[in-house]
Amino acid sequence: MKRIAVMTSGGDAPGMNAAVRAVVRAGLDKGVEVYGIRQAYQGLLAGDMALLSSREVSGILQRGGTVLQTARNEAFKTAQGQMKGQRRLNENGIEGVIVIGGDGSLRGALALHNVGVPVIGIPASIDNDIWGTDTSIGVDTALNTILDAVDRLRDTATSHNRAFVVEVMGRDCGYLAVMAGILGGAEIVVTPENGVTMNEIAVSLEDAYIRGKTHAIAVLAEGAPYQGPELAHYLEQKHIGFEIRLTILGHTQRGGSPTAFDRLLATRMGVYAMELLLNGESGKMVARIGREQTPIPLAEATARTRQITPEYFDLARILSR
Ligand code: ADP
Repeated sequence: MKRIAVMTSGGDAPGMNAAVRAVVRAGLDKGVEVYGIRQAYQGLLAGDMALLSSREVSGILQRGGTVLQTARNEAFKTAQGQMKGQRRLNENGIEGVIVIGGDGSLRGALALHNVGVPVIGIPASIDNDIWGTDTSIGVDTALNTILDAVDRLRDTATSHNRAFVVEVMGRDCGYLAVMAGILGGAEIVVTPENGVTMNEIAVSLEDAYIRGKTHAIAVLAEGAPYQGPELAHYLEQKHIGFEIRLTILGHTQRGGSPTAFDRLLATRMGVYAMELLLNGESGKMVARIGREQTPIPLAEATARTRQITPEYFDLARILSR
């Protein structure tokens, strides 16, 4: 292979840039040109791609977001769109693609593989919902951002005898909420998976008040059966002792400089993805299992959603005494 392309797709995640940089430099090391496709599958269909030099990926290691930008694109979900994508790659002499992104993006990568383009996927998603890998690029940074916010909220909560409802990202997977609960010292965590009712939250927070706590925190995943404002309103009506405040962290969780962990993860995955592609592999995703990286079929990784280890729900409960 003499020329390959890289793209970042779906929701942006801190560390995507570090992965792009690693792919480009691994390519240079092996004498392979790396093209950057701008705005993911949308850019692929528009033929929006250009050679990335080593200098062009200088100074991006520590930057959040993605310099290649990302976009969502419906046309690529059709067979016609996928054939067009393949044609665009051929027109530019590109022999393989590395896709950095979430669940949907990896499904797109599998579709490209299925029309005959050699493809390797790299998991990047702050939600930690990608099946088959212990973690994905961006999870560690997002979690640290959330913990920073929760710590600050606890300071102010303590000063006023308040209970905070903190809404964090996680549409289908409550990983960030559970970890933020355990590591941020929350009283209770609500995720799409655990079925905690608003009444159970009220009881738990009131109990903390009665036990003499000066603050309490409930962490809610955005994919929970009810939203932050509804929960905060409910708790106010219940008069549980604490004054209630709501903080929705929103997009602050996506940005920011990647942590050391995410930089290393992204760097190793980027270099490994290039190695796999040059070894003739395709239709695979780089998974991190334990301390090792290993290729797993994209078909397997995209067929399921990663579940939270049940032990973490127990930890959250035990530690909230
Ligand atoms: P994420 O990668 O963060 O999960 P999305 O689910 O929005 O984000 O997917 C990103 C893009 O990947 C979509 O806009 C679309 O272009 C492409 N994609 C998603 N699912 C498929 C699919 N089944 N086949 C082909 N392309 C897909």
